[in-house]
Amino acid sequence: MKEYLIAVDMEGVHGVMGVPYNESPIYSLPRSSEQYRNAVASATKEVNVAIAALFDSGATKVCVWDNHGGGGNLDFSLIDSRAQQVMPDNNRPRMEFMGEYAFDGVVYIGYHARAGSHRGVLSHTFNGIDIQYYKLNGKQIGEFEFDSYIAASYGAPALFVASDDVCVGQVLEHSPETETVVTKIAKSRRVAEYLDEEEVLAKIYEGVKRSVAKNVQPQPLSFPSAFEVRYTKVEVAEWMYESKGEKIPLTFAEDANTIRATLKNIDDLRVF
Ligand SMILES: [Zn+2]
Repeated sequence: MKEYLIAVDMEGVHGVMGVPYNESPIYSLPRSSEQYRNAVASATKEVNVAIAALFDSGATKVCVWDNHGGGGNLDFSLIDSRAQQVMPDNNRPRMEFMGEYAFDGVVYIGYHARAGSHRGVLSHTFNGIDIQYYKLNGKQIGEFEFDSYIAASYGAPALFVASDDVCVGQVLEHSPETETVVTKIAKSRRVAEYLDEEEVLAKIYEGVKRSVAKNVQPQPLSFPSAFEVRYTKVEVAEWMYESKGEKIPLTFAEDANTIRATLKNIDDLRVF
C-alpha cells in the first residue's frame, strides 16, 4: 500500500500574484478577485499532474486536502477522479484526519512564503492581518513548516513542494531532502514573474515522481519546544492570551504583542 496526501493552498501556484485594491486583506486572495480565479484554475492543473505522477509511481491511494481559507476552493469534478477528497471538520485540530490514513508522504501544492518574507508572493502566516510571525525555538516558521511538523508526527515526510522561489528557499532550509519546483519568480509581495505553464506542470510531474523514488525522512518536532507568536495589535494578543490560555499555559514576552508557550506535544502546536 502506498498512500499519499496532496495538501493544497492557493497563493503559491503558477500564474498568481497579489490582488490590487485588496478588499479583504485577511484573505490575501479574496474569492471575488480575478487572481483567485487564476489560483483555482492553476491549482487544479498542478494537483492533477501531482495525482498522475503519484499513481504513475505506484500509489494505491491519493487524497487531496483543499485547505485555503477553510477549503471549498477546488471543483472536484475537475480533479482526477482516482483521487479522494478529504473534508476535515475545521473545528477539529489541524490535520487530525491524518490519523485515519497511513500516508507515506505529503505533496504540498500552492503553499507560500511565511509572513515577513522579503519578496515572497502573497506571503503570510495563516492570518495576514493579525500575525506578524510564528517562531519555533527561535526560528521563524510558516504554514509549510507548521503543517509538515504535524504531518511528521504521523510519520509522513514532506516529499515535494511547488511554490515561488522564496517559499522554495524556506522549504529547503527546513527540509533539504524535499523535492521542489519553482512556479514563479517573486519580485515583491504583490508581483511575480510568471514561468511557462507547460514547463512548470511538466517539472511538477517529474519532481513528484523523483520525490516518491527518494527516501525522504519525516522531520518531527522535538519536545519540549519554545513557541512564540507576535501579533500586530496588542488587543489581539490579549484576546489570544485569554482564549488560547485555556488550552496551554502562556506568557507575554517583553512586549505585549508577543506571547510564548512551551510545547509538550504536537497538539500544543495545534492550539495556534
Ligand atoms: Zn491560502
